[in-house]
Amino acid sequence: MTDFQKTLDAIYKKAACSDARGETASYIPELADIDAHKFGMHLIDSDQRNYSVGDSNENFSIQSISKVLSLTMALGLIGEDLWKRVGVEPSGDPFNHLSLLEQENGIPRNPLINAGAIVVADILVSRLKRPKEDFLAFIRNIANDRSISYNERVAASEKATGFRNFAAAHLLKSYGNLKNDVDLVLDFYFHQCAIEMSCAQLAKTFFLYGNGGRCMQGQGYLNTHQVKRINALMLTCGFYDEAGEFAFEVGLPGKSGVGGGIVALLPNTFCVACWSPGLNKKGNSKLGMEALEKLTSDTGLSIF
Ligand code: GLU
Repeated sequence: MTDFQKTLDAIYKKAACSDARGETASYIPELADIDAHKFGMHLIDSDQRNYSVGDSNENFSIQSISKVLSLTMALGLIGEDLWKRVGVEPSGDPFNHLSLLEQENGIPRNPLINAGAIVVADILVSRLKRPKEDFLAFIRNIANDRSISYNERVAASEKATGFRNFAAAHLLKSYGNLKNDVDLVLDFYFHQCAIEMSCAQLAKTFFLYGNGGRCMQGQGYLNTHQVKRINALMLTCGFYDEAGEFAFEVGLPGKSGVGGGIVALLPNTFCVACWSPGLNKKGNSKLGMEALEKLTSDTGLSIF
């Protein structure tokens, strides 16, 4: 049997000695000012045993990781119709690239780039009575944790600097692929990016993607078909223009965010979350990528 704690301890020891930690995201002060020496990891195996190291209980901004959760909620609400408004091809572009321009039809390439996530946010704004409250309740239920919340200061900073997201939303609107008011949709989108969670909470939340769509409490959120689709999207689109590298080095479906978080999973085996705020040139956590590479290499556990 794999000794996950021993593996995490070895990863932590290596990470603690690292002086090449990358740079924290610089576009808002709330992310730029985070201590780059933070490092945490939490893993839950298929028997729901927990393993952790470092700052695994400290909250951080989940940023783009939230795109998987909004997609999950939207897919549950409108099903396959969602794919009429957003594609499933990797973009090979940075997160904020306006790649819907390439296709000239207003259909973003996938739901994990900003333009795609903004369309998903639009779907949720159309469908939910109290979008921000209902989305937060959805995540709290999956994680079975009422303490998960938005960081309002991060949301306000995102809004103050989110020019490209405004541009993307207006472009989507011009193509008829945004039904609600731009400000309303972006207020929701900036808040979803500003959710704070710890590695432990993230691993708990993402457990369902490795468990046929059922959360740790046994409640079903997605059917096996939908889980397959979301895992495929995480594998091909979850790491900006470094998804190929992540598949090559780590070999797991996963999602990163510019807050330095990465969550990844091996179906029916484990779900792991890692946080180290320093990013590499592509916007993915530098030590997080290295940690997950070591995890799958040392244990021999990856989808390949
Ligand atoms: N909040 C950022 C934005 O929409 C994206 C964050 C991320 O890629 O993690 O510009």
